[in-house]
This record gives sequence, C-alpha cells and structure tokens, in this order.
Amino acid sequence: MESLRCWFNKLKSKDKLKSSKKKEAADNAKEGSKPPAGEELPSNVTKQRVEAAKQYIENHYKKQMKSLQERKERRDILEKKLADAEVSEEEHNNLLKYFEKKETEYMRLQRHKMGADDFEPLTMIGKGAFGEVRICREKATGHVYAMKKLKKSEMLRRGQVEHVKAERNLLAEVDSNCIVKLYCSFQDEEYLYLIMEYLPGGDMMTLLMRKDTLTEDEARFYVGETVLAIESIHKHNYIHRDIKPDNLLLDRNGHMKLSDFGLCKPLDCSNLQEKDFSTANNLSGALLSDGRPAAPQRTQQEQLQHWQRNRRMLAYSTVGTPDYIAPEVLLKKGYGMECDWWSLGAIMYEMLVGYPPFYSDEPMSTCRKIVNWRTHLKFPEEAKLSPEAKDLISKLLCNVEQRLGTKGAHEIKIHPWFKGIEWDKLYQMKAAFIPEVNDELDTQNFEKFEEVDNQIPSAAKSGPWRKVSKFSYILNCNV
Ligand code: ADP
Ligand code: MG
Repeated sequence: MESLRCWFNKLKSKDKLKSSKKKEAADNAKEGSKPPAGEELPSNVTKQRVEAAKQYIENHYKKQMKSLQERKERRDILEKKLADAEVSEEEHNNLLKYFEKKETEYMRLQRHKMGADDFEPLTMIGKGAFGEVRICREKATGHVYAMKKLKKSEMLRRGQVEHVKAERNLLAEVDSNCIVKLYCSFQDEEYLYLIMEYLPGGDMMTLLMRKDTLTEDEARFYVGETVLAIESIHKHNYIHRDIKPDNLLLDRNGHMKLSDFGLCKPLDCSNLQEKDFSTANNLSGALLSDGRPAAPQRTQQEQLQHWQRNRRMLAYSTVGTPDYIAPEVLLKKGYGMECDWWSLGAIMYEMLVGYPPFYSDEPMSTCRKIVNWRTHLKFPEEAKLSPEAKDLISKLLCNVEQRLGTKGAHEIKIHPWFKGIEWDKLYQMKAAFIPEVNDELDTQNFEKFEEVDNQIPSAAKSGPWRKVSKFSYILNCNV
C-alpha cells in the first residue's frame, strides 16, 4: 500500500516536470499557422508554407496522441500493481478515483497558460516596430529569459499578425543550437509575448560596428555558423528573408544564433518594374545615364565612416535598411530559399570590407544598386580580400540560377574559402570573440534604452544604437 502511495507521488512530480513542455504544445495548438490572407504569393512559396503547416499540424496531433497513450499506460501500470497488491475492493476503487483526480488536475495544469504576471520584467535590450525586448525573471523558478513584447494593435495595423505567428511557430518547432530557443508564448489584451533564451553576447551589428572589419579567419567562423543556421531553417521549410547582422545574436560563449523570424515581410516594391530600377530610369541620382555612379567615389575608409555615421542617423529615424535583401525579393518576382544565401553574401562582404556591398546614402538608391548588382558589385583594393573570398561573395551575390546554395547548403560548405573548416565541430570550437559577460543579468553588450512611461516605442527617445525598423521602410518604399 505504502509503495503505491510513493508511486503516486512519483507520478505527480514526473507530471509536474512534463507539464511545462505540454503547456507549450497546447499553446502551439491554439495559434496554428495559416498563410497570410489576401497576399498573392508565388506558387513555390505557397507550397513551402503548406508543407510547413502540414508538418505543424502533424506534429501537434502526434503530441496529443502521445499524451493520451501515456495516460493509458499510467492507468495500465496502476491496474497491474493493484492486481498484484493485496488491497480491499474499497481501497482499490479509492486508488483508481485518486488516480483519475490526479490525471484531471494534470489536464487542468496543461490548460493553464503562462502570463505576463509570471515574469518580472528587467532591463530593456532591444526596441522595434512593435514593441520591445527585455530580460526578465520567471518568478516561480528565478530563471532569466529574454521577453519580446509585441503590441497587437501595431501588428494588426501593419498586417503582420501572420508573420508573428510564423516567428512563434518556427522558434517553437525548430530545436537547433543555431536558432534562438523559444520557451513559451502567450498574450493579453494589448500584447503578444515571446519568452526566449537570453543571449548575453549582443548582436552582430554591434560587434561589426565595434570592430570595423573582421579578418578572414574571424569572418569564416561567423559566416560558417550562419551557413549552419540558414541550413537548419531551410530544412524546416522556412525562409528567413531578413537575415542581417542585427538578427544574428551571440551567446555567452560567442557562438551565433539566428533570431527574429516571421516579422520579416519583404519590402514591397511590387508596383515597381525591373525597368524602374534600370540605369536609364534612375530617379534618385545614384547613377548617371551611362551607368556611372553620380555620387562622388569614396575610398573604402570614407565609405566605411559614411556607413557608420549613416547607420547611427538611421537608428534615430523610422527608416530601415534594405542592404541585405535579395534582388528577386525586392522585385517580388517570386523567390525561394536562395534569397537567404544572397543575404549571407552581403553580410560576408560587410564583415571583410566594413560596409554592405550596395550601400548608398538613400535606401531607394540601395534598392536600385541591388537590382543592378552586375554594375555595382565592386571589391575595394584597400580591403585586400583573398581571391577565394571574392569568389565566394560573387557566387552568392548573383542571379538565382548561378547562386551557390540553390541546390543546398553543401554547395557553399565545399567552397575553397571554407577549406579546413570542420563543420560538425564549429559549434564546439572556441568562438572568434568571447563576449564579456559578468553574470546572468549582465546587459553590457546591448545599447542602453531609456524607459518611457507609456511603453510605446519612440524612435526619438531610443538610444543611438536602436535597431532599425524594417516595417517603416516597407511602408515608405511602397511608392
Ligand atoms: P525586431 O523585430 O524589432 O528587429 P528582434 O527580435 O530582432 O526584433 O529584437 C531586437 C533586438 O533585441 C535584437 O537585435 C537584439 O539586439 C535584441 N534581442 C532580441 N532577442 C534577443 C534574445 N533572445 N537575447 C538577447 N537579445 C535579444
Ligand atoms: Mg531584428
């Protein structure tokens, strides 16, 4: 009899442990993913989304079936133990009732949703178009997480709800060491919340602004980890479409993880035709009619300083940067996974040269340069890139048909620039830079943000390193 009670207690604590995981599964079920309404998507993208939705639904039902099966198994074990034990019929019935009561309580726990009240919000580490990112502490356990808080009215106003759901689903589905881990998500009247692991090393944009340029060895480490991260989301049929240094986060040991999924609806330039970007129709003055740049030619150092100055200035405005977006995405011609490999090429260029390859004073002029990449992709002599580095960049910043990665990440991994890299060991290696992190609440690798009482993100009040909001740019670009 006593051993049966012990067994019940064990069951109780085991269930407690499981409940957090299952709650997450129940959350997932409540906010399933569906393709954005009213958005005309190219068929291959639609197919990928359908496949992702199918996988999501299958996973959900698999989890539910597993949970039912587990409940049945627990009941079978109990009945077997009762049959072996010498208990009276009354005791037998009481124990079965007790068991059912515990199972019902467990189901109720599963339904209990985490809420904002379960967390103590602490230092703000990021601010975006829809809200903010803070470190926070779970009251019950004391664990530290990053909490991304998104204002629902802003998301609705900008038609981004489906993209936020996609972000939540991707983070929850993909369990990979190169993707920021999502623990749970919930909402209240005003906000949606994502509770993620806190990566205290800061983001790649901040690192690049501190270092100006990286050596080829340093760049190889981060570009390599980005290759693995992109490969891992592609395996799950997701396209990021907004891979840029501010979405590459560094963990305590300096290893890179990809974040900020789903909130990355591409820049909508669909009402512009390719000819609008051509040299003859160049309205912004980025190019002369013969294709030569109208802006004064700058040395690498001048361009780097200009980029950094402009980036700070952009940080105060609501205008984002299209610097890493693939031409086919800008033109809305129909695009696939390859667009993420273009972004990788642009980031690799920035790491080695100091500014992105199509940087221009005006965002629209950057768009034109991207679309006319054949004329504009140049490697400054002063940057002294190795022939292998130039070759890899040129094979990423090119037409989809020729672009490396189109047939899979292995095409990039075997490029001579990566010679000697041990892909399987990259995440176990010592990182190129080890961030300084003193304790679990240390936010020294992030910009300091002013607290505002009304909690509405304000570009003017945020710090000089505020991450640029791409959404404002989407709206502004749609001219
Ligand atoms: P947005 O959609 O506004 O760009 P992000 O998810 O990219 O939102 O977050 C904005 C910034 O907040 C990031 O660039 C990064 O500096 C910081 N940040 C976001 N998530 C985390 C995290 N899990 N750990 C540490 N910092 C984070
Ligand atoms: Mg971001």
